[in-house]
Formats: sequence, C-alpha cells, structure tokens
Amino acid sequence: MKVYDRLDRQYEMFAEEYKQAAMRVLDSGWYILGRECESFEQEFASYIGGDSYCVGLNSGLDALILAVRALGIGAGDEVIVPANTYIATVLGITENGAVPVFVEPDEYYNIDAGKIEAAITGRTKAIIVVHLYGQAANMKRIKDIADRYGLKLIEDCAQSHTAEFDGKATGTWGDVGCFSFYPTKNLGAFGDGGAVLVRDKDLAAKFRALRNYGSSVKYHNDYCGVNSRLDEMQAALLRVKLSHLAELIAERKKLKEIYLSGIKHKDIILPAVRDGAGHVWHLFVIRTERRNELHDYLEAKGIHTQIHYPIPPHMQKCYEYLGHHKGELPIAEKYADEVLSLPFYNGMTEEEINCVIEAVNEF
Ligand SMILES: *Cc1c(COP(=O)(O)O)cnc(C)c1O
Repeated sequence: MKVYDRLDRQYEMFAEEYKQAAMRVLDSGWYILGRECESFEQEFASYIGGDSYCVGLNSGLDALILAVRALGIGAGDEVIVPANTYIATVLGITENGAVPVFVEPDEYYNIDAGKIEAAITGRTKAIIVVHLYGQAANMKRIKDIADRYGLKLIEDCAQSHTAEFDGKATGTWGDVGCFSFYPTKNLGAFGDGGAVLVRDKDLAAKFRALRNYGSSVKYHNDYCGVNSRLDEMQAALLRVKLSHLAELIAERKKLKEIYLSGIKHKDIILPAVRDGAGHVWHLFVIRTERRNELHDYLEAKGIHTQIHYPIPPHMQKCYEYLGHHKGELPIAEKYADEVLSLPFYNGMTEEEINCVIEAVNEF
C-alpha cells in the first residue's frame, strides 16, 4: 500500500460545493477584490476572533512581509524569531532589511519563552512567534514579555488556524496574526492565499492599501505597496472550506489519537501538548535519533514521510551573510536532524493509518 499526504481526499469530501463556488465566481465576471474576498474576510475574522479585521492577501509569506513593514520595522531593527521554523517566517524580517535574532525551541518545538529576554537588545523592535505544527506557543508569557519591553508582537499562524492558548485564538494575541492558505494547510485554498488578522481599524486600512500598490483611493498612492490580493476564486473556495473547518480539524484530532495510542517504539518520541495550549494538528511530527534510517525504512514500504524542516534558517545558504555557525543553536539543529512528519491528512483511512503504525512499530 502507498501512503502519502494527499489533498484529493479533502477535495472529494465537499467537491460539489467547491464546484458550485468556482462556477459562481466564473459566472460573476468579477475576479479580484470583490464580494467573495470581502465575505471571506468577514467570515474568517468572526470565526477566529470576534472583534478582529481580516485582510486577504496572496500568501502567508506576504502576510509576514507586510506585517513587519506595516508595523514600521526596517533596516537596522532586530526581530526575535524562533530558530525552529519555516524559512518564510524569517524572510518576512529580512525582506524588510531587518535582522532576525534566533531563539531556541522548547520541547514542544515552539520558541522557548524562557530564552526570549536574553535575546532582547536596544535594537529589538518585535517578536515573531510561530505556532508550529498547529500547537499554540506559550502566548501568556510571550505577550507579557512583549508588553514589558514595549515590543510589537506578530504571530505566524500559517499552521494554527483556530488553535487557542488559554482559550484565546492564535492570531488575536499580538498586533498582527499572519495566516497562510497554501493548499496543504489546515485551511488550504486551491492555489496560493494568505491573510492578516488585526484588531486596529487603521492598521487594517494600511494593509488594505499595502496589498493594492499602496493605494486606498484609485491612482492615489500613500505607500510604496505591492500587489498581493486574495483572488475571488480562492476566496470563494476558502469560504466553503471554512464552513467545514471544524469537522476537518475534528477528524485530524481523531487521527492523532490513533497514532498516539498505536505507536509504541522505544526510540521514538511522540508529540506532546503544553498545558493551556490548543493544538489543531496541522502535522504529526515524531522525533528519533534514527530519523534518516526510519525515513528510508518507511519509504521502502511505500510510506512517504516528510521533514519539517531539515535545515534550520540560520544554517541556510541565503543567510550566510548573518554569520551564524553550526553548533550555535544546538536544540534547533538537533530537531532538524531528528524530526519526521508521518503521513497525516483529512480523508486518511483506518487501513492507511494502521499500515503506518504497524510499519513504525516494526522498525
Ligand atoms: C506555510 C508557511 C508559511 C508561508 O506561507 P505561504 O502561504 O506558503 O507563503 C509561513 N510560515 C509557516 C510556519 C508556514 O508553515
């Protein structure tokens, strides 16, 4: 049996609704910044966090880049960021000429709140947290640090749609919540998409201008903006997906239970959840010192696993100019060598998940 992350299953679940939404857009004769985007923004904002404003963008990376820019952070400024994250989080900083300052992860793979204060300098302007794999970071402590030092707080929620910390949604703790609707995400579109969530009305207006060449009145440009708009087709399809998101996440929670109770291996560390942290199980990530061996073993059995992520940002070629070296962030580097994401997707059958569990336990 071949088992791998697949998107066709979750499309098939609601295929008729997606087709209707797509036809509605095609027939409408209006394809950018119209009623679908506006409706999605309202629905998403009220779904995630009551009094928030949502601005639809072209991607999660754009959300991060524009969040840093809209908060006035640029050349010479430092931004604290988890060492254990996807490169896009860091690109959001460096695209604006600011400097990322990496902080090690804790045992839940998220930024270690206890190590943030030591990384703050006179140039620090913001903290970006990432709710990695779908689990909320330790927001109570991090919000407290940001407030005490007068730092902006940006949340990378690309993997954490609807996850909460202490009952408060990720994306509503900081100044800006950045979301991705890349197809594999829990709330995935059928192409690229992203959004920011903010509480401040003026800041929302700034994002609306920034995504549209920096203009809020046609041909009058207040900012040097970009072209980054959630198109009508993606917005319409996302509205369908959003209406089923609770079911989709509930299914993921059932699947993770099966993995957690089924996998028994002395060399494998299963994912754990912090007290107070919600987890929407974007990925199911295990850890073992024998990671490469396990990956190859499963691959030979037709089970395709992934690594999120094999090279930490500070060791990437593109960031050679920052002057980091191997051994500097040992925990993040260790995780990069040891993590493995098992096949995990909506529509995964009992037979498929049991096939993975059996193979892992035999390893
Ligand atoms: C996917 C992802 C992004 C980037 O989102 P895109 O929509 O692909 O640009 C940023 N941060 C994290 C943590 C992600 O997983």
